[in-house]
Amino acid sequence: MIDVLVVGSGISGLSVAFHLTKKGYDVLVLEKEELPGGNIQTLKKNSYILELGPQTILADQKVQEFLKEVGIEPQYASESSKIRYIYKKGRLTPLPISPIKFFTSPLLSLGAKLKVLKEPFVSPSVKTEESIAEFVKRRLGREFLDYIVAPFISGVYAGNPEELSVKYAVRRVYELEQRFGSLIKGAIKLKALGPAGKLISFENGNHSLIKHLASRVRLERENVVLRIRRKDGVYHVDAKGGKHTARSVVISAPATSASYLLREISWSVSEEFDKIYYAPIVVLHAVVKKGSIPPGFGFLMPRVEGKRILGVLFSSQLFPGRAPEDRELLTIYMGGATDPEVIDYEDEALYATAEKELKEVLGIQGVEFINLTRWKRAIPQYTLGYGKYLDLARDLEKENPGLFLTGNYLYGVSVADCIRASYEVSKKVEGYLNSTTAKHFP
Ligand SMILES: Cc1cc2nc3c(=O)[nH]c(=O)nc-3n(C[C@H](O)[C@H](O)[C@H](O)COP(=O)(O)OP(=O)(O)OC[C@H]3O[C@@H](n4cnc5c(N)ncnc54)[C@H](O)[C@@H]3O)c2cc1C
Repeated sequence: MIDVLVVGSGISGLSVAFHLTKKGYDVLVLEKEELPGGNIQTLKKNSYILELGPQTILADQKVQEFLKEVGIEPQYASESSKIRYIYKKGRLTPLPISPIKFFTSPLLSLGAKLKVLKEPFVSPSVKTEESIAEFVKRRLGREFLDYIVAPFISGVYAGNPEELSVKYAVRRVYELEQRFGSLIKGAIKLKALGPAGKLISFENGNHSLIKHLASRVRLERENVVLRIRRKDGVYHVDAKGGKHTARSVVISAPATSASYLLREISWSVSEEFDKIYYAPIVVLHAVVKKGSIPPGFGFLMPRVEGKRILGVLFSSQLFPGRAPEDRELLTIYMGGATDPEVIDYEDEALYATAEKELKEVLGIQGVEFINLTRWKRAIPQYTLGYGKYLDLARDLEKENPGLFLTGNYLYGVSVADCIRASYEVSKKVEGYLNSTTAKHFP
């Protein structure tokens, strides 16, 4: 009998498996696809390194410790990646990164800036849960929502701020209001508004991290898990490649797959998880001549500007070795929760739209598209009332000792969130394994 069977080899599953394998437990990871990594996929095409999923990882101290444990050196993003642009009325404006720059920036009108100055005096909401849009309009005003927060939410969640819950999607911001009564006061006290860390990737792209992790655990690819049952305190797992019994199971598959696998354990949780909405994303990779884009991380497109592109990353400017010396590699995002139908467009229509808008925004001609990826279910949306799913997951684990859930639909959508969660999840699994005596499991 295996100690721990992990379903899924995305960053969530692999990092939990890594911790537990290191502790000496017998761990087996089953992955349905040929390549491990889930959303983290890097493609080498000619002389380009294309990230089909995440481009950058915001590595705080915990993530950096994790990378040391795994034994992989990160690549740090270039200095120029600190410059991020927002498109407004025909031009790219750098996102202000200091109070002085904010008040001198043309990004917001004088009225909008004055509204921001009044933020410390806005009372907390009496509502139990607000959408990000409601929260930001109340505290910082409509323009701040449209030109700063909404593009940022688009960049992280490909989400719609009218639907996402401030409490669950941007908990840190929610807690600033709860603790300090004001975001500005809180940010001054904590000396930071956003999460701290360094933007990183790896030589040859983010899949290098997956390769490193996969080589340190026992992993079977192309071995989809089909059924999980609990009998006499033991888990019976049927996979394409055969049957297994395990003392504990960690399901790190996305909510839809988890829903399918939970149907014999809890019908009601299975039904609810199936309702979790994942926004679709189309990712285009394009090549342009060196010198045709400004230095920086890339730009975000406010939805109020009426274009289809959500944002563009200047990938070759972020990390070295992503494109030949005389070329720039761009990664273009379309779709998301505010424009989901884009996922069904023909390739040619997507290229034509992207080309037209790149010309309007950057004035570039001669864009060469080299890849197109469709993520039908890209990023889970922590919408209003999302706490229900977190409660269901917690209760399910209580009622089924030895069963654990993890993944980006539970503990945060960034790669860093998944890595941080792996410490807590593996501690829970270890606690359970230690509490069940070996004599019960010969
Ligand atoms: C286009 C895109 C861009 C992104 N950009 C960023 C970014 O720049 N920075 C950032 O931090 N985050 C980014 N993210 C988010 C981040 O990549 C994901 O949240 C994270 O990688 C999810 O990891 P996970 O392990 O929880 O899930 P997944 O990566 O979805 O992994 C789940 C795994 O389970 C497997 N599986 C499913 N069902 C079964 C089954 N029945 N049996 C066996 N295996 C199964 C799947 O094949 C998959 O490999 C991006 C995501 C996308 C899609």
